[in-house]
Amino acid sequence: MNAPAPALPAERDADVLVIGAGPAGLHAAFYAAWRGLNVTVLDARHEPGGQLTALYPDRRVYDVPGLPATPAADVIAALVRQLDGLPVRLRPGTLARTLEPDGDGWRVGTTGADGPRTFRTGAVILAAGLGALLPREARVPGTHPDVRTDVPDPARLAGRRVLIVGGVPQATRAALELAQAGAQVTLTHRRAGFRGSPAELDALSEAGRSGQLTVLAPAVLLNVTPTGAALTVDGQPRDVPADTVLILNGYLPDLNPLQSWPLQWQGEYVPDGPDGRTALPGVFVVGDLAASGQDFKLISVGLAQAAVAANHAAHHVRPELRVRPGHSSEKRLS
Ligand SMILES: Cc1cc2nc3c(=O)[nH]c(=O)nc-3n(C[C@H](O)[C@H](O)[C@H](O)COP(=O)(O)OP(=O)(O)OC[C@H]3O[C@@H](n4cnc5c(N)ncnc54)[C@H](O)[C@@H]3O)c2cc1C
Repeated sequence: MNAPAPALPAERDADVLVIGAGPAGLHAAFYAAWRGLNVTVLDARHEPGGQLTALYPDRRVYDVPGLPATPAADVIAALVRQLDGLPVRLRPGTLARTLEPDGDGWRVGTTGADGPRTFRTGAVILAAGLGALLPREARVPGTHPDVRTDVPDPARLAGRRVLIVGGVPQATRAALELAQAGAQVTLTHRRAGFRGSPAELDALSEAGRSGQLTVLAPAVLLNVTPTGAALTVDGQPRDVPADTVLILNGYLPDLNPLQSWPLQWQGEYVPDGPDGRTALPGVFVVGDLAASGQDFKLISVGLAQAAVAANHAAHHVRPELRVRPGHSSEKRLS
């Protein structure tokens, strides 16, 4: 049986802090926790999955071993499911900004919904991909008291009139979730089609037909007003009253928060040794951010790097643990 994770030293928040909850970060978290370490995973986004859930959750991925033709969101769901029962804490909505030595470990400063925080850890695994995936700015003329680029907790918008602007999967999902939570939703996009999984698109058509929400597309958002927004639908002007306007245009990666860390950056990459080590002891890098991957920005490559780096990180934090993990098939979870 796998030994339960030993108690953390009192001064530490985690044995291993993983920055980035994309596929590489999730698998690194799995492996470090499987080896018996306490793991915390930070991500700037409010859900795990990195590029897969932010940029293409609805598209099928064909080259992840063992998961043929699987929607990207389901690849992530499987990686998250694999953390069940392991000592892994996910901290979504948390942006890593600073790194300072802390005895034989590290201190990572973050900002997020809970305000600034410091995480003290024995090792850091950087799985930051292309950078923090932050919502694209809303550039809409006019003023409205509640324009957002993220989706608040659906319960907070129950009973409110919500205009959602965008054709990305996040917009489709938000429309469905908010309508379900009791918001009066209007979804609009400049094109006729929306993106989403087949099930979500079916649900959207059904919700539009049944009047659970209103779909206006193709339509052009002209400007927001203090009480809603002005659109043109089929060439005709239309005012849509709204208490909240969500402009959901997808995400843009931002590496700036990490680029001041002394990692001997090569452009947008962090140089790594064969075991995932960076220039800083106890700081490892995996996935798209690792220079060794070169042109192979692939989920499968990141997963392999994660397995290697996490086992080296485990040995770094607890030298009594061998680097080699042995075979999982010879162990059992309690
Ligand atoms: C449209 C598209 C299609 C693709 N299709 C395929 C495919 O079919 N097969 C394939 O193998 N690959 C595909 N890829 C590539 C694949 O998505 C990437 O290789 C993979 O996502 C890299 O994983 P990662 O964990 O290294 O980084 P990411 O997925 O980029 O995750 C990094 C995470 O780190 C977070 N982060 C970054 N900086 C910080 C910070 N300072 N603080 C907190 N969080 C931070 C980000 O918010 C993000 O969530 C595709 C990519 C795109 C864009």
